[in-house]
Amino acid sequence: MRFRKGVLMKKQVFRERECIHQDDGVEGEYYNGVFYVQALQRLPVDVALQIAGKVEPFFWSDAPEILVWLCRNCAAEVGVAESPRAIAQPARRQE
Ligand SMILES: [Zn+2]
Repeated sequence: MRFRKGVLMKKQVFRERECIHQDDGVEGEYYNGVFYVQALQRLPVDVALQIAGKVEPFFWSDAPEILVWLCRNCAAEVGVAESPRAIAQPARRQE
């Protein structure tokens, strides 16, 4: 895997996408777009399409610059919740 840990340190503009449940006030997490896409690709096509329909679309080639907010349910469906490294910190608050 090519994802480097320090990538968030750089002054890089991340674009954010959310699943449709964010408005419901449910809990969720930002995930690295690359992990999200990789997880989607592991799923059967019909399942992947169902999930993709719940998340704002983006070009997969843009995945390294995308943060995807997923509620717990969607994250579990995608399977991205299983890899802790997939969780991104959009705002680095900890010193
Ligand atoms: Zn959701």
